[in-house]
Amino acid sequence: MFAPFNKLVDFHTHCFPDKIANATVFALHNNSGAIPHTDGTLDGLLNNLQNANGTIAVNLPVLTKPTQFESVAKFAIEINKRFADSSVKVISFGGMHPACENIEEKMQFLKDNGIKGVKIHPDYQETFIDDDGYIIILEMAKKLDMIVVTHSGVDDGYKDKPVLCTPDRVLKVIEKVNHNKFVLGHYGAHRQWEEVYDKLAGKDVYFDTAFTFGSIDKELFLKILEKHGEDKVLFATDCPWHDINADKLALLSFGLSRETLEKIAYKNACKLLNISL
Ligand SMILES: [Zn+2]
Repeated sequence: MFAPFNKLVDFHTHCFPDKIANATVFALHNNSGAIPHTDGTLDGLLNNLQNANGTIAVNLPVLTKPTQFESVAKFAIEINKRFADSSVKVISFGGMHPACENIEEKMQFLKDNGIKGVKIHPDYQETFIDDDGYIIILEMAKKLDMIVVTHSGVDDGYKDKPVLCTPDRVLKVIEKVNHNKFVLGHYGAHRQWEEVYDKLAGKDVYFDTAFTFGSIDKELFLKILEKHGEDKVLFATDCPWHDINADKLALLSFGLSRETLEKIAYKNACKLLNISL
C-alpha cells in the first residue's frame, strides 16, 4: 500500500524491564483479554515499531504504587540514554502517582533528567482524575513545560468498575488547570466517544488514538477529528495491545488527506515533543 508519510511517531506504547516483561504482559492479558503483539520487552517494542517502518515509540510507564517511582524513573532514563544517538528509537516518559510524596520534587527530578512527560492512570491508581494529586501533577507539568498523558475512559481490564477518568471529570480538570500539553489517551475517552464529541472535542488538549482503531466507527472517528481539529490528534497504538503496523494501516484506510495524515502520524507529536524528524 502506498504510504503518504515516511515518518511515524507512536505516542502511546508500553514496555517493561526484561526481568518482569513476560509476567507483566501475561498478567495484563489475563485481566483484560487483550492479545499482546510483543513479549513486553523494550526490544519487542522496537521490533514492532520497525516492522511498521516507524520512527519513534513513546513508552508510557504506569505506577500502580507510589513506591515504584524511582525504579520506573531509572528504567526510563536508561531507555533514553540507549537511544540518545539513534534515529529510530523509543523515548520513555516517567510515571507519576497522585499519592506520591513530594510530587513537585519528583517532577523536577524527571525534568532534570531529560524526561519530556509523565503517564498517569486513574483506574490503575484508584483515584479520580479530578483528585488534588493529579491537579498538582498537572500544575507542575505546566510550570516545567512537561507533557501529561492520562488513560481516559473505559479500561478493558476494569470493565465492571466505575470509570475514574470520564469526560465530565476531565472538564473539571481543564477548568482548574488549563495545560495545553495534556493528552487524553484513547481518543478522548475509550468507549465514551459520543460524550467526547459532545463535551471534549475542540478543547485545548490532545487526543491520542491508542487502542481506538477497530473499536470506533470510521464516521465517529472522523466526526470527532473534524470538531477537535487535526492539530491535536496523535497517532498511538497502545502496543503491545495493538500492533503498530495494523493501526497504521487502519489510519491509512480512513481516506484522510496527505496533510492531515502527516500531522496525525508525526508532525503534531514532533511539535509536542519539541523535536524535529
Ligand atoms: Zn496504554
